[in-house]
Amino acid sequence: MDFASDVIAWKRDGKELDGARMRAFVEGSVSGAVPSYQASALLMAMVLRGLSDTETLELARALVESGKTLDLSVLRRPVLDKHSSGGVGDKVTLVLAPLVAACGAVFGKMSGRGLGHTGGTLDKLESIPGFRVQLPQGEFLRQLERIGVAVVSQSERLVPADRVLYALRDVTATIENDGLIAASIMAKKVASGTSALVLDIKVGRGAFMRDLECARGLGRLCRLIGNAYERPTTCIYTGMDAPLGRTVGNRLEVEEAWQVLCGDGPEDVREASLALAAALLALSDLGIDEAEARRAAAAALSDGRAAEHFERWCYVQGGRWKPGEFHRLAAHEVRASRSGFVTAVDALAVGRAAQLAGAGRRRIDDTVDSAAGVLLERTVGDEVAKGDPLAAVFSRDPARRSQAGAVLEEAFTVGEMCPAARPVVLGRE
Ligand code: URA
Repeated sequence: MDFASDVIAWKRDGKELDGARMRAFVEGSVSGAVPSYQASALLMAMVLRGLSDTETLELARALVESGKTLDLSVLRRPVLDKHSSGGVGDKVTLVLAPLVAACGAVFGKMSGRGLGHTGGTLDKLESIPGFRVQLPQGEFLRQLERIGVAVVSQSERLVPADRVLYALRDVTATIENDGLIAASIMAKKVASGTSALVLDIKVGRGAFMRDLECARGLGRLCRLIGNAYERPTTCIYTGMDAPLGRTVGNRLEVEEAWQVLCGDGPEDVREASLALAAALLALSDLGIDEAEARRAAAAALSDGRAAEHFERWCYVQGGRWKPGEFHRLAAHEVRASRSGFVTAVDALAVGRAAQLAGAGRRRIDDTVDSAAGVLLERTVGDEVAKGDPLAAVFSRDPARRSQAGAVLEEAFTVGEMCPAARPVVLGRE
């Protein structure tokens, strides 16, 4: 038997992989010494047998060491970052990044593209004409120094093993394992030089994590890796049964984020942004606790500093930001079939409708339409009369528009009773 088959059999039989075996697997997957069929078999053994804490840490280490790492210590300030486990209508980074900078801390993020029913921050930023997400490393550092905020695409040189393994996991039903997910997320954060991190772990129908207990399991592993690398990590658990805010789709979400930055916009987006900003600022070098940080962030939203920082950020990264100035596509409207209260808006269905309309990708090399998406005219708790508009889906393509409309129709539940309000933040640790 060759080395790779031995390692597969070892894990298949429920034995723990040590650092040397894990490294050999990860390095071999990148170099080709471990062919994809063997890497896939080992990934499946990992999913079926589970990963111990030690294996999760060893995997994270091997992933980090598979490529270059970015040293941000030249900035002589902690660089804060945020990661979301992926939700529908999640535009929080667009608010958080300039908000944290407006409060005097440094926010630097390397981000990925959206896949499936969840959107990606890079696609949202690229819906602003001219916005450049590919910055050379020197420019990324200079921008952080100059304006305290930069969000760019993940460098190809960081964590190459994650790209190889994630592509295999995506097509072999091996995404769903906490150890694999935590190692994948945290390796990218460690390699990109993040000093401290807030993880927004989404919980609910529109998220990877369907309940709070599962989400806490993932959070614990991410914090374990963060601690091992001395990157303080706070986990905030937020609800994702219904989409966040009223918009899903790249440019529509930027417009909504702008409203929040101007002290307005939907309450849930504002609340999630303030909770994350408070946690992140408390991990900065500003010497403030979460309560002071929350007050500082709320003040920056209401006195215009956060919005000003957003404009400066767009300008420096090449974006020509003009609120409301984008091509409005034709819409398919969904109307209430009865009177009552909206009791549920299924985030997964809304995400799928937006994706069908052209706002998201099915495959990583698909292109997205920045103006496509969904506008929710009513959401959970709103009273409606029969025939009232519930939502609109925007798409260039009439066939896609009606297909997405049919999916969107199914997303709404209207009942007799107004549902109890659910908190945006379900927990933190
Ligand atoms: N996001 C990641 O970056 N990695 C995973 O494995 C899952 C979600």
